Amino acid sequence: MPNRPCWVEISTRAFEDNYRFLSRLAGPQVELLAIVKANAYGHSLELCAPAAIRAGANWLGVTSVEEGVEARRLCPEARILVISGIFPHDGEDVVRNKLTAVVWDSWQLDILEAAARSLGVRSISVHLEIDTGMSRQGADLASLPSLLASFRRDYPLRLEAVMTHLFAADEADGQVTEDQLSRMNDALITVKASGIHPGILNIGNSAALLSGQASNISKLAARFDMKALMRPGLALYGLVPEYDPQFSSAEPMSLGQARLNLRPVLSWKSQVVSVHSVDAGTVVGYNGTFVATEPMRLALIAAGYADGLDRKLGNHFSLLVRGQRAPVVGRISMDQTVVDVTEIPDVVPGDEVVLIGAQDSEKISSFDHARAAGTIPWEIFTRIASRVPRVAI
Ligand SMILES: *Cc1c(COP(=O)(O)O)cnc(C)c1O
Repeated sequence: MPNRPCWVEISTRAFEDNYRFLSRLAGPQVELLAIVKANAYGHSLELCAPAAIRAGANWLGVTSVEEGVEARRLCPEARILVISGIFPHDGEDVVRNKLTAVVWDSWQLDILEAAARSLGVRSISVHLEIDTGMSRQGADLASLPSLLASFRRDYPLRLEAVMTHLFAADEADGQVTEDQLSRMNDALITVKASGIHPGILNIGNSAALLSGQASNISKLAARFDMKALMRPGLALYGLVPEYDPQFSSAEPMSLGQARLNLRPVLSWKSQVVSVHSVDAGTVVGYNGTFVATEPMRLALIAAGYADGLDRKLGNHFSLLVRGQRAPVVGRISMDQTVVDVTEIPDVVPGDEVVLIGAQDSEKISSFDHARAAGTIPWEIFTRIASRVPRVAI
């Protein structure tokens, strides 16, 4: 535990178990790439990347070349996919660190080609992203033939995989995903016609995997004599995405299994710093947005919005103290928060406080934070500040 008691505990065991469960769920036809971008969703790349490898992952997915270099240091043998683009000065770092770039624009190919030639490397693999409807990154079908034409003889880049991103896999009717897979089918026909044979079809996030899309994706891959690679993130960290709209009648069996088997990897903890009693009418925190309605006991917690605790939670959330919910009173400060422990006997300085995780039979999930803060668990995780130490348990 750090001197200032505000820290995150990471169960690398839960992470490994989650990977193994998802791998079984995906089935033997589908390989998984462990998404560890953004410091492993705030869980610590240093802890999670090696855990993914121990659990059997060959592939890691990171945002940038900077993250890729760090992942390479941690995992010398892993395949590392840089998923959110390479930039003009990235070429040589990609080649030297044996990173695999996702590309979709000809200038990205040029950067990699120049780096490979200047370092005398004859073959580097790339994954080509197709925009199948998200309009974020990826080549559209019209520009595909000219991009494919680059992969001629004596070209140092090898097209290892074709990739796309499903942007509505959490919509239970699956219609958008079906359309995207159909557009991918068209793209693969174009790739095949160009005479190039990439071996991997790289598609699908947690929501796709848990809703049973693995079979559709591996069927599409098999049609083009490719192997499917799926890219779960959130589920590896133990969360089951919410589907909206929800599954109307029976939800897929894979989803039920996921609810039973996935375990949250991260707990966020702090401690009570001090406890004091106040009279009715006492105001609490900036601008006195809370006024004690009766004599109360208040506990000061060493965590604030600079640690990533959303300021919107002031007066609207509870933290766990001694296995009970202690309501946040007043505004959350930069480094501190006050909770009401009037109903919780015997609270003393040093008592553990849970911001995310379980304490006795009570639990606070990152979904609870997300709902209260008007966002999604991905953001809750990734904005836990870097000053909050991540400790392996
Ligand atoms: C973040 C990301 C994923 C993982 O998404 P989850 O919903 O967390 O499973 C997969 N693919 C790409 C391209 C991503 O950016």
